[in-house]
Amino acid sequence: MEPSAVTPISLEPLVCSYCHQPVLATYYFCPNCGTKLNIAPLSTSVGTQAWIYVFSIVLPMLCFLFVTRWPGWKYYKSSDPKTKAIGINAIVLIALSTLVTIWLGYIWTLDAIKASVNSINADMGGLSY
Ligand SMILES: [Zn+2]
Repeated sequence: MEPSAVTPISLEPLVCSYCHQPVLATYYFCPNCGTKLNIAPLSTSVGTQAWIYVFSIVLPMLCFLFVTRWPGWKYYKSSDPKTKAIGINAIVLIALSTLVTIWLGYIWTLDAIKASVNSINADMGGLSY
């Protein structure tokens, strides 16, 4: 019954930055003058969210599969010191590579969020000139 509660994205009435005709947030082009509106596209933010969610689901599953099929633990649990050392090296390497992977994923996700925030800021600047 309350559309404002369903669509929290549209905060204020939008107007075309060129001809100042009211437009909808879902429009990519002004229906009056044809100016590209460049309002933060919904598909991009949905895609970004989907990527983040898929990444959140898939990454731990991949890690789990990797760890369960990974022979490092067997080497680490070995009573032979040389075999155990190989296991420890393998654990250090897997820990480092996991940290690097998470770090790269974190940077990548931040970049994706920053890009969409920048495009929203650009739209705000265009609308308020
Ligand atoms: Zn226009």
